[in-house]
Amino acid sequence: MNYSPAAGEDRFVRVTEVGTRDGFQSESRFIPTETKADLINRLIAAGVRSVEATSFVSPRAVPQMADAAEVMARIERRPGVRLTALVPNARGAERAAAAKVDMMASFVSASETHCQANLNKSIDAALADFVEFAPIAQRYGIALRGAVACAFGCPFEGDVKLENVLKIVETYVRHGARHITLGDTTGMATPPVVTRTVEAIRARFPETIVALHFHNTRGIGLANVMNGLALGVREYESSFAGLGGCPFAPGATGNICTEDLVYLLHECGWDTGIDLDALAAVARDVQQLMERDLPGQYMKSGPRLKLTPIEGVRRAVG
Ligand code: ZN
Repeated sequence: MNYSPAAGEDRFVRVTEVGTRDGFQSESRFIPTETKADLINRLIAAGVRSVEATSFVSPRAVPQMADAAEVMARIERRPGVRLTALVPNARGAERAAAAKVDMMASFVSASETHCQANLNKSIDAALADFVEFAPIAQRYGIALRGAVACAFGCPFEGDVKLENVLKIVETYVRHGARHITLGDTTGMATPPVVTRTVEAIRARFPETIVALHFHNTRGIGLANVMNGLALGVREYESSFAGLGGCPFAPGATGNICTEDLVYLLHECGWDTGIDLDALAAVARDVQQLMERDLPGQYMKSGPRLKLTPIEGVRRAVG
């Protein structure tokens, strides 16, 4: 398994921070708009070039995202930084276009049961919403991302059919999405499942750029990233401090943690453009903001060569 860049290969791996969307959306306490924007601005200052900032869903359905336009307006835009927002339908697309997002992301679950539970509609109905709003994005020259939730398994149905995943991707591609995200919404991905799915998509849609979105529910999120690197995937989505989870999926713990991911990528020779120390400082502040212990490890331990003074170390015998 070759997880490091080959000689002469472009070393850039794109890391998309999803904490303010995927992470915050399951928090019941409303996080102030200026806090959300401030965190995004600090991430961008730390070198993060891709942020899934917010979601233009119905404010009644997800009150945490009711301030989507205000968050977007407070972000200090920089060239080369891509701001994505989740968009569920034509109305959301108009709002997202007015807020000048760089990319609109659609979410459809590969599991019929999860789709019903999460979106309250069938896979076909969710795809019809995408087909309706895709031309709006195109009219404004905004890129489209098609995300497949539960792409590697569903907590209600078990394994999802690969044909379901391919059908969703096919609709996305046919209606102008060049970017596809495979979402491991409830942490059911394993290296063999990911390999099978990514290879099937590559074979049928060679022009698409695949990003992987793993959750660490069963502790192998970064192992799945290593496998993704070996498969040639150069785009990953993650959440600061490992925040997140899906409110409609039982037991779905957080996304893989951005600082831990960036640490791994840098140690393997990849370039993310991100200042890891600055990123870890943001993650520690997120943990403080949430007033609970969050799963991120790097923010607690620091770099591997941070030496510990020998004096005062307590001996552990036995
Ligand atoms: Zn997620």
